[in-house]
Amino acid sequence: MNLNNLILELKKININLTPSQIEALIKYKEMLQEYNQKFNLTALITDEDIYLKHFYDSLTLSKAVNLNSNLNLLDIGSGAGFPGLVLKIVFPNLNITLLDANNKKIMFLNAVIEKLNLTNIKCLNMRAENLPSLYKESFDLITSRAVSRLAVLLELAIPYLKINGYFLPMKSNIKDELEEAKSSLNKLNSTLEDVIEFNLPFENSYRTILKIKKNAKTPEIYPRSYDKIIKRPL
Ligand code: SAM
Repeated sequence: MNLNNLILELKKININLTPSQIEALIKYKEMLQEYNQKFNLTALITDEDIYLKHFYDSLTLSKAVNLNSNLNLLDIGSGAGFPGLVLKIVFPNLNITLLDANNKKIMFLNAVIEKLNLTNIKCLNMRAENLPSLYKESFDLITSRAVSRLAVLLELAIPYLKINGYFLPMKSNIKDELEEAKSSLNKLNSTLEDVIEFNLPFENSYRTILKIKKNAKTPEIYPRSYDKIIKRPL
């Protein structure tokens, strides 16, 4: 996918990039390619891969929820900024927190944020299981692309959502992990509202986004320690 294809394909999903957003995405792509030579941020580094598998794919989150308001969004395991940093460029009203355990990725994210003069976006360099309790029940939306098994992710994410907020994990096929995660959904007072399935344009790879709603406050005991989350999923 080249830049023109990106612009056209996004129009088909009701996203009309402004000239300044296009300029910001080009700068972001160039910085990713430059920093990647030193820091190994991502394996997908050609123009075509970045436009399709990073930028377009990140923006498919808009198929799940309306992103055009001042929502607080946490991106767990954002890596080089996918989907959180792309969402910030295209939906500037969002208040975004990017979280990643990897220091080099956080340094890159901060460099892009500074270069593009983005506001209402911050980075946390920590593991999700160490997110302080002051963030509990504080996000309208939480997302996470290609980070961990659903049963694990649920316990890391749901405690930090507001009641009626949505957790929106993205993966090539996260639907397959639903059976294992059923009991976690129950114990964390959340329900699966929708499974959004589609294929990326051009090369047709399959994608899923789950739409999981938090219905009530999370019991204080969650999240448990990380070794318990891993060894004994809820
Ligand atoms: N979301 C990005 C994407 O789709 O391109 C990055 C995906 S990469 C496969 C997984 C990222 O999650 C890595 O950057 C890693 O450092 C981060 N990560 C994995 N487990 C984590 C945890 N428990 N807390 C914070 N970050 C984590």
